[in-house]
Amino acid sequence: MQESSAEVVVIGGGVVGASIAFHLAEADVDVTLVEKSELGAGSTSKAAGGLRTIFSDDLNIEIALRSIEAYRNFSLRPGHDVDFKVHGYLILISKEDDLKNFQEIVKCQNKFGISSRIISVEEALIINPMISPDGLIAALYSPQDAQCSPEGAVMGYAQGARRRGAKIIQGEGVREIEIAAESIGAVITERRRISTSTIVIAAGVWSPQIGEMVGLTIPVLPYKREIVITDPLGQHWSGLPETLPMTIDFSSTLSWRPEGGALLIGFSDERVDAGFDTTRDPRYIEKLAELALHRIPITSELGIGKGWAGLYDTSPDNNALIGEARSPRRVLYATGFSGHGVMQAPAVGEIIRDLCLGQQPFVDTSPLSIDRFKEERTRRESAVF
Ligand SMILES: Cc1cc2nc3c(=O)[nH]c(=O)nc-3n(C[C@H](O)[C@H](O)[C@H](O)COP(=O)(O)OP(=O)(O)OC[C@H]3O[C@@H](n4cnc5c(N)ncnc54)[C@H](O)[C@@H]3O)c2cc1C
Repeated sequence: MQESSAEVVVIGGGVVGASIAFHLAEADVDVTLVEKSELGAGSTSKAAGGLRTIFSDDLNIEIALRSIEAYRNFSLRPGHDVDFKVHGYLILISKEDDLKNFQEIVKCQNKFGISSRIISVEEALIINPMISPDGLIAALYSPQDAQCSPEGAVMGYAQGARRRGAKIIQGEGVREIEIAAESIGAVITERRRISTSTIVIAAGVWSPQIGEMVGLTIPVLPYKREIVITDPLGQHWSGLPETLPMTIDFSSTLSWRPEGGALLIGFSDERVDAGFDTTRDPRYIEKLAELALHRIPITSELGIGKGWAGLYDTSPDNNALIGEARSPRRVLYATGFSGHGVMQAPAVGEIIRDLCLGQQPFVDTSPLSIDRFKEERTRRESAVF
C-alpha cells in the first residue's frame, strides 16, 4: 500500500471534482483528486453541454451566470478550448399554467440583467424554423444562454489543476475513509492510503456511497437519461440559421440542438425508475421518434438510432447539494446537480474552494445544504428539463 498525504482529497473526477481541484490548486492548496475510473467517465461525458440561466430560483441564476462567464473565458483560465457557443435557449410552451410560470422566471432573469423574454409562436418559428407550431401558445427566448463541451471542461480543469501542482489519480476508487474523534484521518483506495484532514465528495450519482463511509446521508438518486444523434441534416440544413438555439418543448420535455451537422435529441422518460442501469431501451427510441415527428417534422427524413445513456444526478428538490457536513469535521460535498452539473461546475469550484478556506463564497450557499431536508426548507426548482 502506497502512502501519501494531501491537505484536501477530492473524490470524483467529473467536471465538478475537476473544477474543485483546479480552484483549490490555484489557491495553493495541496490537493489530490481520486477518480475510480477515468476523468469524465461518469455523467459528465454523457451530458449535452447546455448552459442556461432559465431557473425559478435566484440562487441558481446567480450560479449559472457566474459559470457561463467562466466558460466564456475558459481558453484563458484554466486555458483550454470548450467549444463555447452563445446560441441561446428556446422553451416552447403549450399550457397556460406553464406560461405563467415562465413569465415569473423571465422576471427573475431580467432582475439579473438577462435579456430573456416571452415571445410569440411566430417569432419562435423565425428563431428555429424546424419547429411545428402545433398546440404551442408562446415561447421563452433566452439569447445569452450557451453551450460547451463537457469533455473539454473536465480535461481543461484537470490539466489546469495539474499545472498548479494538484495530484490526479485515476483508476482507483475510494473504498474506505478513516475517521478518528470526529475528524477525517485518511482516504483509502485499492492501492494507497492518503492522509488528509479534509475531503470533498464530488462523486456524482455515487456520492451516497461515499457519504455512507463517513455516516452522511446524501439524498441523490440516479435516473437514466438517453440522447440520440440523427443522421446529418445534409440538404435540410440549407436555409437554417447557423445559430439554432437549444430548443425544449416543455410539455413533452423533448430537447434538441445541432451537433456537427446533425441533431442531438433527447427527452425525459417518466417511465424510468431510479437505478444505475444505462442500457439503451428500444421503447425510448420509439417514444422519442413519436415526439420528434410531432414537434420536428424534418426528423421523418432523418435516421435516428446512434446515441448513449447516462445518469441524471437527481436530488429530492432538483437543487444541488453544496456545503459542509456537521459531522465528521471537514467533510464537504458538491453533488445532486439534477441535470445542471456541467452548467454549475465553474461556480461550484469557487464555492467549495472558499468553504475549504473559510472564506465567504460569492453567494450564500446555506440554502443548498443537505440539512434543508431535515429542516423542511426545501426549495423546489421548477425549471427542470
Ligand atoms: C444525458 C444527459 C444529458 C445531460 N445534459 C446536461 C446539460 O446539458 N447541462 C448540464 O449542465 N448537465 C447535463 N447533464 C448532467 C451532468 O452530466 C451532471 O450534472 C454532471 O456531469 C455532474 O458532474 P459530477 O462531476 O458531479 O459527476 P460525474 O461526472 O458523474 O463524476 C463523478 C465521478 O466520481 C467517480 N467516482 C464514483 N465513485 C467513486 C469512488 N468510490 N472513488 C473515486 N471516484 C468515484 C465516477 O467514476 C465519476 O467519474 C446531463 C446528464 C445526462 C445523463
